[in-house]
Amino acid sequence: MDQNKVSKNIESRRYHKHYEGSIWRRTDWGPAIFLSVTPPIAIALTVWYFMTEPFQWWTVGLFVFFYYATGLSITAGYHRLFAHKAYEAGFFTRLFFALFGAAAFQNSVIKWVVDHRPHHRYVDSDRDPYSSTKGLGYSHIWWMYLKAKRPKYEYWAKDLLKDPILYYQDKYYAWIAVFMGWVLPALIGWAFGSWLGGLAIAGFLRMVVVHHLTFLINSAAHFTGRQTYSDSHTAKDNAVLAYFTYGEGYHNFHHEFANDYRNGIRWYDYDPTKWLIRCLQFFGGAKNLKMIPEDVIIAAKMKMDEKRAQKKLTSRTAKAQAEFKEQLNYLRQQFAQAQERFRLIKEEYDNLKLQAPSMGQMSQQMQENLQALKAEFKYARQEIKMVYKQWRRYCRNLQLVEASI
Ligand SMILES: [Zn+2]
Ligand SMILES: [Zn+2]
Repeated sequence: MDQNKVSKNIESRRYHKHYEGSIWRRTDWGPAIFLSVTPPIAIALTVWYFMTEPFQWWTVGLFVFFYYATGLSITAGYHRLFAHKAYEAGFFTRLFFALFGAAAFQNSVIKWVVDHRPHHRYVDSDRDPYSSTKGLGYSHIWWMYLKAKRPKYEYWAKDLLKDPILYYQDKYYAWIAVFMGWVLPALIGWAFGSWLGGLAIAGFLRMVVVHHLTFLINSAAHFTGRQTYSDSHTAKDNAVLAYFTYGEGYHNFHHEFANDYRNGIRWYDYDPTKWLIRCLQFFGGAKNLKMIPEDVIIAAKMKMDEKRAQKKLTSRTAKAQAEFKEQLNYLRQQFAQAQERFRLIKEEYDNLKLQAPSMGQMSQQMQENLQALKAEFKYARQEIKMVYKQWRRYCRNLQLVEASI
């Protein structure tokens, strides 16, 4: 395939020299009309269905299936796999994401990624395609109503242009989207006895719901929530939002550690995208799941706590400030030592595991060494967590940080 030709075609369709012109000339009519007319069509079809046919429970099941299949194809596929390379996936996994991702009607993978990667690189600036500094509405939907100078495809999505699945998904995107997103639910509905039920509920209504819920990640997740790991960007962690966005509500973590396959890192954080990726790994459809080392994550959290504490400390006495500084230095030292031990043991453990043949062929001595290192590693991990807990307790007692971690 001629990649230059492909990327030039993609670019010329999106690029417009009248970028600075009047609102009419700047309007990107295709997406503007599509995003404006699909919600009323969805409502009209749903009303038509409920008025002309008795309610059937299978429509709910079909809605739920398409809701998760298309939404998770955006979050686990378009986002964490294709845009961030947070893990590797096999042919069928990528094919599934390409097919059901298209049914979400959010563009081809390549175009989606070319908007998303600059969002991370230039977050909150003018070069961020959905910069939150331009307002909640703009970052939610208006940015798609306007023509934009698209970033270079060869630069932003060079790796993806090589994948035949993504190449053909982009080339036949509209056909795939219409078939997977509208025709398929209508056909399944027809098999169950109502093509209208399938099309209205699992086709249009589901599409509009998934649209606006996933758009919340660009809008609300940059406006409300907690800056747990960094305040160098507007992204926020928001557990409530995670329920509506397939786990993508932990957006502060994501902007800070974008290559991690998780967004909600605690086991109880609602992140179905993370669970799906783990299931795929179990069944052989995904491998090399990337995770940011725990010490790096805790260090970022401590830094943010410190910032918050410092702000509150300005109103305290000089004595209290001096005491805090002393305790802070002590805990920092403890953390640095624990971190150093953690890293050395991890390195040693990883090296030994790399050299080691399979468990059955390993010598007795080697097995014992590995077990010993594993125990030491566990201990070093606990140590890091303990220092952090100590630090949190100290700040909490002085009412310098909020109670929740
Ligand atoms: Zn963001
Ligand atoms: Zn991202």
